[in-house]
Amino acid sequence: MLTFDPEGMTTAQRDGDACVVCYKRWPRPRVRVGRFPDDMVAMACADCAAALAPTPPATVVAFPTR
Ligand SMILES: [Zn+2]
Repeated sequence: MLTFDPEGMTTAQRDGDACVVCYKRWPRPRVRVGRFPDDMVAMACADCAAALAPTPPATVVAFPTR
């Protein structure tokens, strides 16, 4: 879980109403990407969340078919 520095962020970002990365308010950011030191949730839009959190290693193991 990432911790974001609220310094320099807008009120909307700190309230989870705007993406913490690109400031976009619409569509509403829906992905929890971390939190602020005061325990507020940091939200990001799907695109930015993907950029922040690199896709985890594959959890699905493909078994060879015989
Ligand atoms: Zn964004």
